[in-house]
Parts: sequence; structure tokens; C-alpha cells
Amino acid sequence: MPEVAFPWHAEVWSQLTGQPQHAHAYLFSGLPGVGKRRFANAFAAFLLCEQPAQAMACGRCRSCLLREAGTHPDLLLVAPEEEGKAIRVDAIRHLVDFMGQTSQQGGSKVIVLHPAEAMNQNAANALLKSLEEPTANTYLLLVTDHPGRLLATVRSRCRAQKLPTPGQEAALAWLGEAAPELSAEQRLTLLHMAGGAPLRAAALHEVDAVQLRAGVVEAVKALLKDKQSASQVAESWAKIPLELLIDWFCSWTLDLLKLQTGAVAHAANADMDVVLGYMARHVAAQPLMEWQDWLLAHRSMTLGKANLNRALFLESMLLEWKQLLKKR
Ligand SMILES: [Zn+2]
Repeated sequence: MPEVAFPWHAEVWSQLTGQPQHAHAYLFSGLPGVGKRRFANAFAAFLLCEQPAQAMACGRCRSCLLREAGTHPDLLLVAPEEEGKAIRVDAIRHLVDFMGQTSQQGGSKVIVLHPAEAMNQNAANALLKSLEEPTANTYLLLVTDHPGRLLATVRSRCRAQKLPTPGQEAALAWLGEAAPELSAEQRLTLLHMAGGAPLRAAALHEVDAVQLRAGVVEAVKALLKDKQSASQVAESWAKIPLELLIDWFCSWTLDLLKLQTGAVAHAANADMDVVLGYMARHVAAQPLMEWQDWLLAHRSMTLGKANLNRALFLESMLLEWKQLLKKR
């Protein structure tokens, strides 16, 4: 089976594949979980295919078969050695060598690099040189959740292609096929949690995020009512992915700021309606902004950090959160 992009990317797909000439480097961006990597892989397949039909890789030629077997000599996938780690300069040196080689199958050469924001400074600088001197018939496909974190000079040398988030109906339909055990209500909850990105919603389902979230909301209420201490709550969250916890607090904070300006909270936070409504009335604007700064700074400091004292961090986060109600 040829690899195809998701239906909600069909329009971008036909624009892109319909171009008489392709750019040497593309930067695919969009929300986490909208299917960017699948898009890039499908586009790589299209570029490598010897006889694409109807703007798709055929799935039958030698090139397609080699790619499906994972042994195409003219396709290079670049990613961090471990998830969450950096893409190092060695990997980019390998990429540069690959670009300099002649195509072994006599067609195009394609590199898919994901996530592009994981390149460290040296890696990005090394890549820059090959972006400045592109090789004929060689295509570099960068994929990123955070284009703003890339070097501006790298960004400006790629053709930017934003991949859209599907409409709710399409996203729910896909999620229904991916996880048929979910009820319509659960699908909607997960999709809200995922900011509308269906693959992210499916990943949240994998970790049982709906159930985890219900427990977290209860614990936050218990904390604010002095029924549980910050350290007790932190301990009870030992198995919950840190990224999820921080994301939820970020989202609640954003809603508090919104509520204070008279806007409505995000639908995903309906389970926190009462708490957020109360806090919005009782927390002053200045401490709230300071708390948001604290949270964002700690978000980037903690995520992916190997030797983090997680319980201690969560406890201090919860104390800061609770303090909000006392700073007036
Ligand atoms: Zn083919």
C-alpha cells in the first residue's frame, strides 16, 4: 500500500504535488498530532516513486518496494537517537555526506528530518551550509511542531508549508476509526484535550488521559480546599506524564487570564469550570501573570530533563498555584 497523507491534508497535497518543480527544502509545520510526519513520508514516497500515478506514489515500482521495506538507499530519515533528545551535528554531517552522493537508484534523493527543532546549534549551523548550496534532485523535508524554535536562517531557506488541523467532524470520524471503543462523548473530550489534533487525541487515549485528568481535577480541588497537601498531591501524580500536567496547568492559566477579561474559558476545561470561575474572581491580574511566567519558564526547563526531581518540582508548582489565592 502506498503511504498517503490524511484526508484533511488533501488540498495541500494536490497543490504541492501539482507543482511543475519542487523546492529543495520544505518546512512542514502545524499543531502536534495533525499528521505532519505522515504527510512528509508520503511526499518523500511521491518524490522517490518511478511512476507516480494521480499524484501518488504507485506502491509497486522498485523504488516504492524498497521504501516500504525500509531499505531505500536514496531515502534518509534523520531523528534524535532517543525521543526528546537533540539531533546532533554528527547526524547532520551524515546528512551532508548523503546529499553529496550520487543517487543509487538513479532518481531523486530525499531526506526527512523530524523534529527539526531538536537540532542543536551546531547541527543547525551544519545544515545551513547544505541549504545554501542545494544538490540537484535532492529534497530536504523538515518537520516541526515549533517553527519559531528553528534558526531564522534555516527557516528562511525552506519553503514553509503549514499543515492544517482538520475540522471537528473529520477529526472525530478519524478518531472513531482509530479507536472504535470510544464513545462519541469520549472522542469529543479527547479531541478538545488535544487542541483539535486527532493523532494527539489518539495518543492521549493510549495513556488513558481522560481518566487521569478526572483524578487530577479532583486533587486540585482537594488541594485548594486544604484537604490534601501539595506533597500528597504531587506524590499521587507520580505516574502521570509531566508534559500533560504542565499542559493542563498552562491551559487553566490561559483560561484564568481570559475569564478576567470577560472572555469564555476553553471547552476542554469544562471540568474545571467552578474552580477557574472562583479563582478568576479572587486572583489579582499581576500575580496571575507572574505565575504564568513561572510556569512557562519551568515548562521549558523541566521537560526532557533527565535528572529532574519530579516530586519536588510538582510540589513547588502546586504551592505556587495555591499561593495565587493568597496574593491579592
Ligand atoms: Zn512507485
